[in-house]
Amino acid sequence: MTRNFYLYNTLTRTKELFKPIHPGMVGMYVCGPTVYGDAHLGHARPGITYDVLFRMLRHLGYKVRYVRNITDVGHLEHDADEGEDKIAKKARIEQLEPMEVVQLYTIRYHDAMQKLNVLPPSIEPRASGHIIEQINLVKKILDSGFAYISNGSVYFDVTKYNEVHHYGILSGRNLEDTKEGTRALDGQDDKHSPLDFALWKKASPEHIMHWPSPWSEGFPGWHLECSAMSEKYLGETFDIHGGGMDLMFPHHECELAQNTASRGKGGVNYWMHNNMITINGQKMGKSLGNFITLDQLFTGDHKLLEQAYSPMTIRFFILQAHYRSPLDFSNEALRAAEKGLKRILAAAKDLKGLTIAADVPENPELKQIEEKCYDALLDDLNTPNVLSCLFDAVRIINSAKDKSIKIGQADKAILDNLFNGILVDVLGIKDDSSEEGNGKIIESLMEMVLEARKTAKANKDWATSDKIRDNLKEIGIIIKDTKDGCEWTIQ
Ligand code: ZN
Repeated sequence: MTRNFYLYNTLTRTKELFKPIHPGMVGMYVCGPTVYGDAHLGHARPGITYDVLFRMLRHLGYKVRYVRNITDVGHLEHDADEGEDKIAKKARIEQLEPMEVVQLYTIRYHDAMQKLNVLPPSIEPRASGHIIEQINLVKKILDSGFAYISNGSVYFDVTKYNEVHHYGILSGRNLEDTKEGTRALDGQDDKHSPLDFALWKKASPEHIMHWPSPWSEGFPGWHLECSAMSEKYLGETFDIHGGGMDLMFPHHECELAQNTASRGKGGVNYWMHNNMITINGQKMGKSLGNFITLDQLFTGDHKLLEQAYSPMTIRFFILQAHYRSPLDFSNEALRAAEKGLKRILAAAKDLKGLTIAADVPENPELKQIEEKCYDALLDDLNTPNVLSCLFDAVRIINSAKDKSIKIGQADKAILDNLFNGILVDVLGIKDDSSEEGNGKIIESLMEMVLEARKTAKANKDWATSDKIRDNLKEIGIIIKDTKDGCEWTIQ
């Protein structure tokens, strides 16, 4: 905690010295996923960016309460106040209960994050578990006069709010700019103005996720959950609020307005936004055919991918860019990241086996590298510069390995801090090649076992074929015969 940390604040548009509200403790809130589909490339960047922030604050000695929510209700198709709920739509198509959809994709999201070595947050609240808090928040906003009830729904009155406060302060807009991008009311609307957004929506008869409220049987507006849950777990004002740049408007702008309307203050000291990922220069989208899930990246199973990329390659690749810069995915760039990662991991391994010489004076260059590394990290998480410092240290390890220089005890301590403290603990880069290698060995073994069973079956040797199936089941591998052959899963 002796080191100064500078953080770019989206609200003030300046880099500021980070000062937590409570000394030694940091409260941070990050908008998590809406769980209606597999985790994709777009989830990896915020997941990893805020994980590095979380890890770094802990490395500096702070106690951190990191809240990342799960959106499981209220996120409508068009991010506006219309369309079907994203979760409910998936449930209808897949013929599942909405909470089955939520459970399925929450598990898959966690699995993908774990593979990327993203630590779980301290609290992971769900919107559907905080309906009471959200109803209470709507009541407060109604009491403040910045909301109105219309036909069983409650809307935030943006025009009225803007007369006293500035709606658009976070995203740098004024009301006139905002008006231009908004469609006109179609006469069917319950809103007074197209700028207004829903705090509570009355559920239509076909809407399956709804709760009782003083206004109607309905559901909360999407922006409401983050105001309600961040206040519940972090207090009326907390340190850091993060999320993707795409959430700055309208989601975070609305959150800020809700906070101000209900508590008289924005409630967040530092707003942080990570930039987006493009694919071969294009925005990622299902309609463009360049939508890549994290599983597809890990297996290489997508027409745009020339090979599989390990989760650590993805993590390393994301950290090679500053979180506020755009980042473009291409096979070429990923292969370069894979090479860089290999080099740094090889040096980390060599470091363990280096001979330490007695009576060697401290290497001043190494001390300088360590200082530069911290400077970069503490300068608004400049991970590309941190990595370049680590590569400078790789050069020193390689010189020590080929015996052109000697490494003393003090140098070893610095190198350990760089490669264990910074690389592993803060950047979260670890060697996952053995896990990957084990996976490949299991795959090959299973191929051999299933081939033997196929031969037994072809010879009508049912006893052997059943024995193979039963023995596999005993060790937790379930095989299923299909018309094309055989599938297997580990339980
Ligand atoms: Zn949010």
